[in-house]
Amino acid sequence: MEKYQKIEKLGEGTYGIVYKALNRETGEIVALKRIRLDNEDEGVPCTAIREISILKELRDPNIVRLYDVLHTEKKLTLVFEYVDTDLRKFLDANGGNLDLKIVKLLKGIAYCHVNRVLHRDLKPQNLLINKRSELKLADFGLARAYGVPVRSYSNEVVTLWYRAPELLLGSRHYSTSIDIWSCGCIFAGTPTQETWPELVEFAEYKNTEIIWYEGADLYSLIPKLDPLSFDLLKKLLEYVPEKRISAMEALGHEYFRNDNESQGGQ
Ligand code: ADP
Ligand code: MG
Repeated sequence: MEKYQKIEKLGEGTYGIVYKALNRETGEIVALKRIRLDNEDEGVPCTAIREISILKELRDPNIVRLYDVLHTEKKLTLVFEYVDTDLRKFLDANGGNLDLKIVKLLKGIAYCHVNRVLHRDLKPQNLLINKRSELKLADFGLARAYGVPVRSYSNEVVTLWYRAPELLLGSRHYSTSIDIWSCGCIFAGTPTQETWPELVEFAEYKNTEIIWYEGADLYSLIPKLDPLSFDLLKKLLEYVPEKRISAMEALGHEYFRNDNESQGGQ
């Protein structure tokens, strides 16, 4: 492991810790996702196997690059391109202003879907953002290839707040539309004090990313949303999966029509 020098801890998940590190040979800064392999029975966790096998096949500016995989007896290390922050940390630090990012999120998802990959865990913590405001999809631990006929998929996917209604109701034959619902939740679920003044008064505000009340009228929840944003949001949060907009269709929505290169580009 001499090749990489740890600098600081960036995050901690179910299977391991993510560090910022220096590649001593090239001087490059990378992110190391370390997975301990101390449980002899389980071996390499299936989330790591999924993440490696899927990310090896995907190469896009809106998807985090996996550079290398290092395997020793005790641990598995995934070496990623380093990205400055994630959307959760970014929003905590800067407030809303998501309009720059949603197009990039949709581009990353469209790329996955064209390549027959479902992400299945889209949420702010898994979306990385660099200083140039480029957004990159990360954490493919729950992702899977689709289109290969299988009897059924697990519906125990996607963090609860971002989970599409068909999954909540037990569907096992879902498709790309589950990722689109999560996009809608990310798009709608990042109110700031400006767009939603009462937000900070909620007791759970600090540890809740989306405050979602059953039966509430969407428009009254986000009253200052302009009509075009609202139209896109409604199409992302369509209950019927087959009617839900696709990532490609969403990219053609009028909401993005006046995007200049710096917004919609790359
Ligand atoms: P887990 O499966 O444990 O959720 P993630 O891949 O989502 O693992 O990583 C956990 C956290 O580490 C992320 O939410 C993010 O804050 C940080 N992180 C992950 N990958 C990178 C990266 N390439 N660059 C910078 N930070 C990262
Ligand atoms: Mg994660």
